[in-house]
Amino acid sequence: IVELQSVCKWYGTHKVLSDISLQVERGRKIVVCGPSGSGKSTLIRCLNRLEAHQEGRILVDGIELHSKMRGIEQVRRKVGMVFQNFNLFPHMTVLENVIAAPVYAMGEDRASAGKRAEELLARVNIAEQAAKYPGQLSGGQQQRVAIARALCMRPEIMLFDEPTSALDPEMVAEVLDTMVSLARTGMTMICVTHEMGFARSVADEIVFMDKGEIVERAPPETFFTSPRNARTKQFLSQIL
Ligand code: ATP
Ligand code: MG
Repeated sequence: IVELQSVCKWYGTHKVLSDISLQVERGRKIVVCGPSGSGKSTLIRCLNRLEAHQEGRILVDGIELHSKMRGIEQVRRKVGMVFQNFNLFPHMTVLENVIAAPVYAMGEDRASAGKRAEELLARVNIAEQAAKYPGQLSGGQQQRVAIARALCMRPEIMLFDEPTSALDPEMVAEVLDTMVSLARTGMTMICVTHEMGFARSVADEIVFMDKGEIVERAPPETFFTSPRNARTKQFLSQIL
């Protein structure tokens, strides 16, 4: 459902993605990890064209992303994204946040979006907070709202960029639990995270990046027990 072929990206003269090739089939869960600055965020932001790549090809559900394309909205609809810092609209209630995109961007009627939003908020265990504002919620609750909001667009792929790294430790588990249950629904997921417990239990494949390259990719069993590359070994020794 996602395919990258020899993708390169520069910021000015600084090459941040170097010859990235990756294929993600529908329903698969990929965890992307690697040191700070290795290009993880840039990689997933290229998948809904929050960033543009310069070389190579990116296809999302058969649609190629490129500078002259029309209808990027059609792609963004398929690709939900959850950020480190939640990015909720502070002046809208939880419920309004969740229905905003379907109602204002897609013209769906409030009643049907609202019904789906209530179901999603229940699914992320936060139904009783629907009328509150983001500022009245804990970080973990806000992140679960952000997940519900992304799901309200009925995406086919979910991207996560370090969704738990801005959270207090006691709130990490509730967000990871939500992601684990989402994984069980069969959603295609690409998650940048250093939560290796999550990676171990959910990932079909772990992709390790360093300096803009994919250095190693393997199923979790192999990745943790017998990494091949020296840089992977060093990274694992730091985080495990
Ligand atoms: P982290 O773990 O810290 O989030 P990352 O692996 O997500 O790191 P990226 O944010 O993708 O790394 O950044 C990759 C490289 O691109 C870094 O060297 C970074 O400084 C650079 N970079 C990122 N965004 C920009 C930008 N908007 N303009 C210029 N350089 C950028
Ligand atoms: Mg990042």
